[in-house]
Amino acid sequence: MSFASLGLSERIVRAVSERGYSEPTPIQMQAIPAVLSGGDLLAGAQTGTGKTAGFTLPLLQRLEAGPAATPGKPRALVLTPTRELAAQVEESVREYGKYLKLNSMVMFGGVNINPQIRQLKGRVDILVATPGRLLDHVQQGHLDLSGIGILVLDEADRMLDMGFIHDIRKILALLPKSRQNLLFSATFSDEIKKLADGLLDHPSLIEVARRNSATELVSQKVYRVDRERKGALLAHLVRENDWHQVLVFTRTKHGANRLADQLTRGGIPALAIHGNKSQAARTRALSEFKDGSLQVLVATDIAARGIDISELPHVVNFELPNVAEDYVHRIGRTGRAGCEGEAVSLVCVDEDKLLAGIERLIKSKIRAEVVPGFEPDPSIRPEPIPNGRTQLPGRQRPPSRKDPRTGRQSKN
Ligand code: AMP
Repeated sequence: MSFASLGLSERIVRAVSERGYSEPTPIQMQAIPAVLSGGDLLAGAQTGTGKTAGFTLPLLQRLEAGPAATPGKPRALVLTPTRELAAQVEESVREYGKYLKLNSMVMFGGVNINPQIRQLKGRVDILVATPGRLLDHVQQGHLDLSGIGILVLDEADRMLDMGFIHDIRKILALLPKSRQNLLFSATFSDEIKKLADGLLDHPSLIEVARRNSATELVSQKVYRVDRERKGALLAHLVRENDWHQVLVFTRTKHGANRLADQLTRGGIPALAIHGNKSQAARTRALSEFKDGSLQVLVATDIAARGIDISELPHVVNFELPNVAEDYVHRIGRTGRAGCEGEAVSLVCVDEDKLLAGIERLIKSKIRAEVVPGFEPDPSIRPEPIPNGRTQLPGRQRPPSRKDPRTGRQSKN
């Protein structure tokens, strides 16, 4: 199956093949014809499936066919939960659309608003945005959403998790009634179903690779260790095994900073990325990590959302997540596209319940080992996890994590 046979134009197919893709992925095979037909779409797909090109390519083709945008009045809107994802999607739009006469723009908070205002004075066909900053522009009168003919909600479940539902509803109310809607979500909670019911008109339904399948591709291991010795054990593992491009998850921003400092002091180049970091610092950390000069990237769950780095060799859970599903999401960062990955969790006595919850979710026991020299001290008693709320039902999150878009201080 080729991209051309899906109905894409020569100029789009050329850009895609220059990017190095020879064949569409399963989601692309289904999504591209569905979007080209002009109907609504409900797609169950997570990052790593090729979903971005799945909606970007047909979107470009449909826009190419219509009249150009007027200043401040875009024709297509892609909403994403995080700045990183917005930046990545817009980069894809630019790359796949490089032979077309379409303009795109990315818009997110945490950076100066003025360059965005200036850019809006020009012609923007495709706007990729996070919800908060988008509404700021509308309220300030720089952006008119009445020309939107195609709306994409990317990672809709993440947007709801992050508390964006009210912003999304406000934005929907500003769009013209007649338009094409595409909704992408990795999971389908009742909340997502409700949103989809209200938004989509007889959508095509597409579902690929369930989230939990990541667990089958990734070799998983638990190292039992005392809470105070996790940093030393991680440094030991990275050094002994000569690991590179290691993505390490911590539960809190503070913990991410502390660990990155500790590793760096020990001679292992490491940086932390989380919602309190400036956009420039996050971008720098990501690009150094991608090019291999940064050996370890320490991230919180929210900061790691939408980071488009595929086939990472090593993912480390420095601390287990409070929500068992996040474990699956974290380890899904490795072992993509049929490539074996390794996910390692450093587990102390405080985390027994969290581990049991994860094993219940993935329906298997994770092999546990002890590294010689790091044997846990059996006399150490479990302590409550700082910020360790008990597991919440479904995908709900603690309120203190809810406003990553403003970067306002939260407890974790
Ligand atoms: P996504 O799920 O959109 O985040 O894409 C995951 C990764 O797959 C990205 O690194 C894309 O560049 C890559 N990708 C997307 N489509 C294809 C394709 N048809 N062939 C090979 N790689 C692809």
